[in-house]
This record gives sequence, structure tokens and C-alpha cells, in this order.
Amino acid sequence: MPEGAELAETLTLIVPCYNEQPILLQSAHVLEKQLQALIKAGLVAQQSKILFVDDGSTDQTWAVIADLAARSSSFSGVKLSRNVGHQNALLAGLMAVQVGACITIDADLQDPVDVMNDMVAHYRGGCQVVYGIRQDRTSDTFFKRTTARFFYRFMTIMGVESIENHADYRLLGPKARKAVLSFTEENLYLRGIVPLVGFQTASVYYTRAPRVGGKSKYTLLRMVALALRGVTSFSVVPLRMIALLGVSVFLLGLLSMVWSVVDKLFFQPAVGWASLNAVICLIGGLQMLALGIVGEYIGCIYTEVKRRPRFFVEQTL
Ligand code: UDP
Ligand code: MG
Repeated sequence: MPEGAELAETLTLIVPCYNEQPILLQSAHVLEKQLQALIKAGLVAQQSKILFVDDGSTDQTWAVIADLAARSSSFSGVKLSRNVGHQNALLAGLMAVQVGACITIDADLQDPVDVMNDMVAHYRGGCQVVYGIRQDRTSDTFFKRTTARFFYRFMTIMGVESIENHADYRLLGPKARKAVLSFTEENLYLRGIVPLVGFQTASVYYTRAPRVGGKSKYTLLRMVALALRGVTSFSVVPLRMIALLGVSVFLLGLLSMVWSVVDKLFFQPAVGWASLNAVICLIGGLQMLALGIVGEYIGCIYTEVKRRPRFFVEQTL
């Protein structure tokens, strides 16, 4: 090992997997090569590992992980008892790490592994958090790019501070990992939590590649759910918007009241059911919308207070 090896620290690559059997072997190979290169360069310790978190896959994902772990000590695995979603799978990975730094990366290798070199360099330079930022996503489908852009725009409008085009490809040093784990919220939105922990931070930029195989697990519905989770757990802007809407409707109501009196006194008012109907429907709709937003927050409080376990580990390798 070259000079400086004594400084080397353990690195764990956390890879959440949900039905990733078609690409897992290929990913494992690429990740192992990258990790070995880091070890050889003396940048990370010999005992560094790749940790697959099987998020309740229904295909042969766990069998592939078990096979890899049996073949090489570079691989380890955690099997969750059911599908709990990407964010909770990442959490399970973070909790399983004992020492050193960790990098969370998707199994589909859309985020290039060589970026890890820069991440580790920043970590060795004293950073506890290193964000991977997608600079170019032309390889994503038009739909993915548009929905992703809308997602970050929506978050900004809603007052959620997030790092644009940073998903969950990031390095966390041991201090940052412990800090992140001290957030015990049920509605986990790591992209919002990580910026809250502070520490010395850096960013690395890369071009996003297409999936090496398989399909994206983030359907439109899941993206909407993630956005809702992010907004409700980090911002009260929607609640303030309701108050603002209330004030605006009230002022409009006042104006309309004055107009009705003037109309009645000086003109011949036309009795119009259509306009009355339109107003009732509009106000009714707005009230329902406001109730829905408040309800969403109440729903979140409801799940938070129950403090249910966020996942169960079925097996560890
Ligand atoms: N994933 C997971 N649990 C889920 C959905 C996804 O662990 O319920 C994993 C998935 O296997 C992948 C990562 O999260 O490693 C990101 O998912 P995907 O590539 O489908 O998302 P996209 O890149 O399309 O946003
Ligand atoms: Mg992906």
C-alpha cells in the first residue's frame, strides 16, 4: 500500500436494490472494480465493502446477493422483510454501517462510479458530506427529465431547500452519518435531511448515464409521493398558501358584497343562477382543496406519532 495508507478509512458502498436481478451482477462487477481501485490507491481501507440492501424484491435479487457474498468478502447484504421504498432502504443501509464513510449509489449505475474518486478525495480533505450532482441528464427519457425538473421546481416553490439534480448519490462521513441517523422521522426524505446536518460539504458533478438494464422503479405516482413527503416534512408553505388564499377570497367577497348593494340600489340586478352556482362551486372546491392540504399534514402527524418501525431486517450476510 502506498504512503498514507494508515490514513485510509473503511468505505461502505450502500446499494439499495428492488427487483434489480437483471443488472445486479454487472453492477456488482463494476462497483467491485471501483472499490478495488480505491483500495489499491490506498485511499480507503482494505476492509471496505459493498453492501446491498434488498428492499423486499420479488425476483431473484437476494439469491444473486447471497451468491456474491459467498464468493467474495467484498460483498455483504441486508434483506428487508418487505418493500419499504428507496428512502427507507437507504436508511437500513446507513444503519448497518459500523465504521468509516459510506457512499449511497443506485444499483442501476446511472450515476458513474468513477465520481467516487473525487468524493473520497473530498472526504480525505475533511468533508463529511459530498453530493453527487447530475449536470447533464440528456440520457434520461424526456418524461424523466421533465418530471424531475418539475419535481425540483415544485420543491423550491414549496420552500423546501434541496440541492437541484442531486438525488441520493452521496458520500457521508461517520459524523454526518450519525447526524443523519439521529433524525428519527417516519416520513423520511434524505435529500432534505442531509443539508440540515451541516459539516464541511462539497459537490462533484457528472453526466447521468442511461440505466444498464431493467426498468425505473420511480413511477410518476412514486415521484408524486416523494414530492409530497418532501414538502410535508420540510415546509409549511402550503399551509401559508391556504391562509393567503383565504384572505384573497375574503377580499374578493367584500368587493362582491359592495357591488351587490350598489347593484340593488341603483341598477336593476339580474338574478343569475349561473353566477351563483359558479361561485358556490368555486368556493366549495377551494375549501375542499384547503382541507385536503391540511389533511395531508394531519396524516403525516398521524404516522409520525405512531412511531412504527420503519423496516425489519430479515437476513444479513
Ligand atoms: N429502489 C429501492 N426500493 C424501491 C424502489 C427503488 O430500493 O422501492 C432502488 C432501486 O433498486 C435503485 C434505486 O432505488 O437502486 C433507484 O431506483 P430507480 O433507478 O428505479 O430510480 P430512477 O433512477 O429511475 O429515479
Ligand atoms: Mg435509476
